[in-house]
Amino acid sequence: MKEILFASRNEGKIQEARALLRDCGIKLYSIDDFPGAPEVDENGTTFYENALKKAETLSKYTGLPAIADDSGLEVNHLEGRPGVHSSRYAGENATDADNISLLLKELEGVPSEKRGAAFRCVLVLYKIDGSHRCFEGSFEGTIALKASGTGGFGYDPVFLPADDGRTLAELAPEEKNRISHRGRAFEKLKQYINNEL
Ligand code: IMP
Repeated sequence: MKEILFASRNEGKIQEARALLRDCGIKLYSIDDFPGAPEVDENGTTFYENALKKAETLSKYTGLPAIADDSGLEVNHLEGRPGVHSSRYAGENATDADNISLLLKELEGVPSEKRGAAFRCVLVLYKIDGSHRCFEGSFEGTIALKASGTGGFGYDPVFLPADDGRTLAELAPEEKNRISHRGRAFEKLKQYINNEL
């Protein structure tokens, strides 16, 4: 069985990654399986830079091939913000609820047709020979006028996929994984793992 580390401590993402890679014959570790693993400062200016830094650092530390994901929400009306700062939009220790409140405040008075946004996900697989591959997925929708739903994580309660009246937080996890930015990037990664790893 192939052993791979998923370089994240975000429980929502770890669960999604396990579900998405379930049938690949992989034993998927997370950072929590390696107490003492270094913290990686996500100070890059692009999703790719951050994902590569996490995957490389954790692969070198554990001696395993490592997958890292960097993802975030880009809102058209806010010129792409929060982007790489999505997880700490409302401050260093901001909760998901804090970030959502700030986002809704910044979009106050903006009509639905101008609330377009996209989630982006960049996955990097860093191999033990030092080579790496990158896989991307994006997912378009709009920002709701108010939060609803309890599933998922992050901005899910305010993200309305195109052609669906429900927020991502109102979808079942399998439904979200089938259409999300992370689901799409993982689909490409899966094909690579199955065919070439
Ligand atoms: P990072 O990739 O861990 O740096 O953080 C990405 C941040 O973007 C998360 O903490 C969320 O705020 C947001 N985000 C990324 N993917 C999703 C998603 O699938 N749903 C909701 N929010 C997301």
